[in-house]
Amino acid sequence: MQDTQLIETLAHFARERIPERHVHPPLPPGHAYGEFTCTHDCSDITSASFLGQVGKTTPLLLRISTVGPEAGSADTTRDVHGWAMKLYTDEGNLDWVFNNTPVFFIRDPLKFPSLNRSHKRHPQTHLPDPNMFWEYVEPSLLAFHVGNPEGFHQLLHLFSDRGTPASLRHMNAYSGHTYKFTLKVTKVTSQDGSFKYVKYHIKTTQGIKNLTKEESVRVAGENPDFLIQDLFEAIDRKDYPEWTVYVQVMTPEQAETYRWNIFDMTKVWPHSDFPLRQIGTMKLNRNPRNYFTDIEQAAFSPSNMVPGTAPSADPVLQARMFSYPDAARYRLGTNYQQLPTNAAKAPVYCPYQRDGHMNFSDNYGADPNYVGSSLQPITYYPDLHGQGPQAVSTVTEHEKWVGQVSNFQYGLYDDDFEQAAGLWKVIGKEAGHQERFFGNVAVHLSQVRSSKLREAVYALFGRVDQGLGEGVKQATEGLVRST
Ligand code: NDP
Repeated sequence: MQDTQLIETLAHFARERIPERHVHPPLPPGHAYGEFTCTHDCSDITSASFLGQVGKTTPLLLRISTVGPEAGSADTTRDVHGWAMKLYTDEGNLDWVFNNTPVFFIRDPLKFPSLNRSHKRHPQTHLPDPNMFWEYVEPSLLAFHVGNPEGFHQLLHLFSDRGTPASLRHMNAYSGHTYKFTLKVTKVTSQDGSFKYVKYHIKTTQGIKNLTKEESVRVAGENPDFLIQDLFEAIDRKDYPEWTVYVQVMTPEQAETYRWNIFDMTKVWPHSDFPLRQIGTMKLNRNPRNYFTDIEQAAFSPSNMVPGTAPSADPVLQARMFSYPDAARYRLGTNYQQLPTNAAKAPVYCPYQRDGHMNFSDNYGADPNYVGSSLQPITYYPDLHGQGPQAVSTVTEHEKWVGQVSNFQYGLYDDDFEQAAGLWKVIGKEAGHQERFFGNVAVHLSQVRSSKLREAVYALFGRVDQGLGEGVKQATEGLVRST
């Protein structure tokens, strides 16, 4: 017991693991540093500094992960891929916490824990369970996915070729949510304090490449870390992957009369209505120095925003703005924002957040720890607090929305299948893609024991497109009969 080095080392070893992320767990993500470059003048839509000048570059950290499988699982498993990116702008950190699909399974955030449980392990068998994936009954909630068919648009993305990317370098990312770009009102600029709704699109310069289900299963067996290794080695050999960043832009007036609810993240804004407008490019050019400090301790949240950007009233986005920092406080502790990987590169002055476990900042020294002191803080959000010498108004005045804040409806409507039908046609333009889709669903759905439940799934695919429902049924029942 007097060998204190031994005791300390053993004690430290027992404490080396921190809680795993509940969704988007630690392995297998791909991750890298890089930079964003503003390529187009955006001054008519946002006063965000990182978009304030053509050619301006902003350092970034990106972490790409699967969602459902836990640490150490094969990274070519069919799953939505999360795209968590931190832009270390000169006005503070902006996080883009996106996916590689433009829509999501749900539009009511109350369903989020159930959705994820239904994609994870069964409470008794501790196995991933297709029965549960398609239908999962919790005492107080609805069933999945048959019970929540607003997610069928997203299921079309998941079971399309894009559900198994061949490389993280050959994958797109989308905000899914509607965000806002805002213009700051100051005495010295002509910007008018108005806002626009935007959706982000990040499109690979390398082109989309996917694995077939046979390839993804083989690669999973041969090298479960295939995607992370591919990205690391590409950057190591200086083959830096690049993407082009676009936004779709909509005015509040257009939003009020648009046929789709723009706060419903099971829907896209069709390109034909709102074309992509380029804002920048991004490149990954540096591997992390240490996985734990740079990536495992990284905490991303859609609530990390900079002036010129703002959230919309999308209920799922609003819920994520609570849930992500809350998860980070649980996983990393109260002062997680001080960790080097999370700390803003720009000066941040917030002396009302003091003390707490593992505080390793200077804790604002002797500065007052209450609001309204005579000490003039750095005006980090002048337009929000109205404290800056140039601020004459608040952004919020310009964000009035006519209507009532309410939960999303549980109802399902015919037009919930319309965009999924659009995607089915897009998929049909690629040779053999629809047939591969049938096979991708069949291998999963054929494991569902109840024929009644399988019939319910065929009926819902049939609501998207009759041929789709029939094709899924034929492929699935063929597999059921052969097993
Ligand atoms: P468009 O023809 O304008 O857009 C179709 C888009 O679908 C393409 O731009 C492409 O997105 C994406 N796409 C192409 N092939 C596939 C595929 N195999 N799997 C998944 N996505 C693919 O039509 P609409 O804008 O009217 O959209 C129709 C459907 O396309 C929607 O239901 C939606 O699911 C899907 N889509 C639409 C997007 C949008 O913003 N409008 C974005 C992504 C998908 P990309 O160019 O980004 O690769």
